[in-house]
Amino acid sequence: MRDADFFRRWMAATTAAVEREADRLTELDSPIGDADHGSNLLRGFTAVLPALEAQGPAAPGEVLQLAGRTLISTVGGASGPLYGTLLRRTGKELGEAAEVSDAELREALHAGVAAVAQLGGAAPGDKTMLDALVPGVAALSTSYRAAADAAQDGALATVPLQARKGRASYLGERSIGHQDPGATSSALLLRALADVAEPGEGAR
Ligand code: ADP
Ligand code: MG
Repeated sequence: MRDADFFRRWMAATTAAVEREADRLTELDSPIGDADHGSNLLRGFTAVLPALEAQGPAAPGEVLQLAGRTLISTVGGASGPLYGTLLRRTGKELGEAAEVSDAELREALHAGVAAVAQLGGAAPGDKTMLDALVPGVAALSTSYRAAADAAQDGALATVPLQARKGRASYLGERSIGHQDPGATSSALLLRALADVAEPGEGAR
């Protein structure tokens, strides 16, 4: 079973990954966007841990809902509401239970990803974060590590795609040949989850 502290550690690990990769995420957002994805997520996730510290939510669902609200209120770009919705909806599904099972978390993440698709109107293949989130969450039935690997593969597979949603879609065919920044950060989110859920099983 996973308690609130597990979800705090997931958010902390994600924050550390965003801090480490912010420059690269911004670089990926430069040819097919406006070069702010790393700084957007850095601003958002840097605010998440202090908010969790200040409010001390006791339930997993409340941790994720507070993290999601914080992202929505601090990130100006498209990715703020999208990641905010992912975490809020996942947290809402988990409800107020003090501990949740891995199966409950998997189901909740499915609902969270569906909410992202609904909000942004995108589907896999559109060269967005969903190209990492959808295969990633599907592979949760195997393991957290498999989910992180599938998300990473999904992010890499955005390179040959033409963007059909978001800022990159304005470039049309010129969006081909670049890795999507949001798919890349989504892979970081699921890698961080694997690192806290299955520690010591080695990075790929
Ligand atoms: P902005 O595009 O407003 O500058 P960011 O640079 O922070 O915001 O985030 C860009 C990322 O957001 C993209 O790489 C893509 O993965 C994701 N994104 C943009 N629009 C959508 C959408 N409609 N659905 C899902 N993801 C999207
Ligand atoms: Mg951007």
